[in-house]
Amino acid sequence: MDRRKPLTPAPAPRQEGAEARSAAARRPSSSLPPVTAANSNTRVTTGRPPAVRGTPGRPARPDEARPTNSNTRVAPARLVVPAPVQARAPARETNHGLNSERMRAALVARLRAQGIADERVLEAVLAIPRHRFVDEALASRAYEDAALPIGHGQTISQPWIVARMIAAARNGRELGKVLEVGTGCGYQAAVLAGVAREVYSIERIKALHELARNRLRSFRLPHVRLVFGDGMLGVPSAAPFDAIVVAAAGLKIPDALLAQLVVGGRLVAPEGGARQKLVMIERTGAQSWVRTDLEAVRFVPLQSGVLL
Ligand code: SAH
Repeated sequence: MDRRKPLTPAPAPRQEGAEARSAAARRPSSSLPPVTAANSNTRVTTGRPPAVRGTPGRPARPDEARPTNSNTRVAPARLVVPAPVQARAPARETNHGLNSERMRAALVARLRAQGIADERVLEAVLAIPRHRFVDEALASRAYEDAALPIGHGQTISQPWIVARMIAAARNGRELGKVLEVGTGCGYQAAVLAGVAREVYSIERIKALHELARNRLRSFRLPHVRLVFGDGMLGVPSAAPFDAIVVAAAGLKIPDALLAQLVVGGRLVAPEGGARQKLVMIERTGAQSWVRTDLEAVRFVPLQSGVLL
C-alpha cells in the first residue's frame, strides 16, 4: 500500500475480513489483500455467497423493508431482563410524560445488562424521550427494545442497536464531528447529540427529513444539522468526521464514507443483503482501514438517490 498517494479521487480502501477464529479479531490491513464483497467474511457460518457482489442500492426485498424486523440485532440478547409492566401500558399522552423517565431508566438498565458499557452513551439514551419520535399510537411501545415503523417503509432503530453503534464508533473518545447516514425520525441523531460536539445527519426521503426536523425542533439541539440528500455520498462539505454511523444496510460500505473519516476515526455500519452483519471500520492511515465484524443484524436497505 502506498500511503503517499493523494486521497482524491477517493482510493479503494483496503479492508480486512473477519478472522476465521474470531469475528472480532483484528490485525493490520497492510498484510492482507484488498477485500471484496465476496471474500470479506471468512467465517463459513456467516459468510455471504458470492452472488451478493454488486452495487449497493438495489431495491428492498420485501422481507428487508418490513418495519417490525428491521434495524435490529438478529441474535437474541444473552441476558434478557423483562420490560417493566408500564412499558406495555395503553397509550395515553399524559402517561408518557409521567412514566417515560422511569421507562427509559428501565430501558437503560436492560441495555447495560445486554452488554452496553459506555456510560456516556447510556446517559444520552436516558436523556432522549424516544416516545416523541414515534406516532402516538406506538408511543406506549417506545421503551421496548424494538424497532418500530416510522412510515415510508422505514423504522426507528432498536435502542440496543443505537447504543451499540454509537459506543463502537465512539470507542471512549470525545467526539467532535459525527455523521449519521439515515436520519429516519431523528432519534439516533438526538442520542448522538449527547456524545458529540457536532452532528450531521443525512436522509434520502424528503418526508422523513422533514419529520425529523419537526421532531427535533423542540429539543433545541443547535449542534445537530439535518441534511437532505443521498448519504451514500456522505457529506463532503462537512467532512472529515470523527465517526460515521450508518442506519441502513448496503451490500458494500460506500468508499465515499470511508474517505470522509479522519485518521483514527471509526465508521459503524450494517453490511449485506438477506444476511447482514454490523461492521466497524477504523481508518488507521491516509490509505489504510481496518475492519472488524460485529454481530448479525437486520437493517432496512441503503438505497441511492433521493425521494422527493
Ligand atoms: N437513524 C434512525 C433509523 C432510520 S432507518 C433512527 O434514529 O432510528 C434508516 C434510514 O436510512 C431510513 O430513513 C432510510 O430512508 C435512510 N436511508 C437509506 N438509504 C439512504 C441513503 N443513501 N442516504 C440517506 N438516508 C438513507
